[in-house]
This record gives sequence, structure tokens and C-alpha cells, in this order.
Amino acid sequence: MDDSSALARLDRRVADCRDCPRLVEWREEVARTKRAAFADWTYWGRPVPGFGPADARLVIIGLAPAAHGGNRTGRMFTGDRSGDVLYQALYDVGLASQPTSVHADDGLDLYGVRVTAPVHCAPPANKPTPEERDTCRPWLVQELRLLRPTLRAAVVLGAFGWQAALPAFAEAGWTVPRPRPAFAHGTRVPLDGLDLFGCFHVSQRNTFTGRLTPEMLREVLHTAAESAGLR
Ligand code: SF4
Repeated sequence: MDDSSALARLDRRVADCRDCPRLVEWREEVARTKRAAFADWTYWGRPVPGFGPADARLVIIGLAPAAHGGNRTGRMFTGDRSGDVLYQALYDVGLASQPTSVHADDGLDLYGVRVTAPVHCAPPANKPTPEERDTCRPWLVQELRLLRPTLRAAVVLGAFGWQAALPAFAEAGWTVPRPRPAFAHGTRVPLDGLDLFGCFHVSQRNTFTGRLTPEMLREVLHTAAESAGLR
């Protein structure tokens, strides 16, 4: 099996996972009750797999799908304000085919980039528990292992993703320094054959307050794309 079919198979297995009872209940309840603005949608209501090609050179790791974003559309960062900011920036630096991401069949392509998360189900209040983070980690480890032959850079959005991603990179075969490097916006940590970048999360709280500006996000993505050989 080549890596693209192996990754597609992994994505299908992720989408069937029911290992976290609290998150299964929440994602399905949100899918039933919906937000009024999306009353005519059939929500995805399942784990949201990563999105992007199997030969990605750059991976972007967030936190978890949003209740009415990825949990509605079935695609990472699709259909919410965080995704609006992220995909606009990816488009601006030449890594996405279009600046918007509104539903899973909108024709968006990513160029050499895969977008994923350490927790694949929407959590209440966007806050997975440490136990849920650890339960979901094997999916990220498997994804990173499949991407490893081509992967040269990673951008991790926020401290939660950072804490979840470092052990996943270690389990997937990279050498992660000890003690583990702390998260900071703009930090760059060389692993063996891969540069790891920290970036504030594209959450509404960060983007509305200006803690993360579009310029700051573009700068990290631009540097990471160069490191990955995508520019
Ligand atoms: S968060 Fe991850 S481990 Fe938990 S149910 Fe969703 S996909 Fe499965």
C-alpha cells in the first residue's frame, strides 16, 4: 500500500473512532441540536481527520475541531473564524488554492501542507481533558509516521498543541530534546531532519485581540514553508 492510500485508510479509521465517551456525546449532541444559523446543515458529528496530501512537507497542528466548524463540515478548520484566518494566510503565502474554506467540497487544495490536530473530536468549550488528549495521540503518531518520508517542517498552533505534539513526534521517530522545549510564538526547534515552529493559535480570542495578527501568522508560515523546501 502506498502512503496516500495508507493515509486515506487512517483517515477513515479516525472518523470511526469512539474512544472518548464525553467527546462522542458532545460532538453528536451538537450535531443534533445545531446552531440556528446552520439549521439546514447535516452536521458531520464525527472525528475530523487531517486534511492535505500524503506527501506533505509541512504539517500544521492545531488543537481540536470547533463544534460548529470542523464538527459541522467534516474538514479541519473549515467553516469557522479560526479557519478563515488560517486558510487566508496559507493562500497569502502560496500554500492553498483559495483563501476561503467553507465546506468539504469547496475545491480547496493545499500545496505540500497537511492540517491536523492532536484531538480529532470537538470538545466542550474547546477544552479537551489531558486524558482525551492522550487517548487521541496514537492517531497523530500514526499520521506523522506516514508523513515522515517527506515531512520537513511543522507549525504547532498554541501551547496545548505543542504539549501534545512533542511526545507524538518522539513516538513517531524524531529525536525531541530533553528537557522538552517550551512553547513560544516564533520559536524554532530543530529535530532530526525537521524544523518545529511555535505559533499562537488562530483562535478568535487571539486574532480579535491582536495577540496574533495576520502578519505574524504569515511570517511563521512563510519561514516554515522555506524550511520545508516549499518556497
Ligand atoms: S478525540 Fe480522538 S481518541 Fe477521542 S473519540 Fe475522538 S478521535 Fe477518538
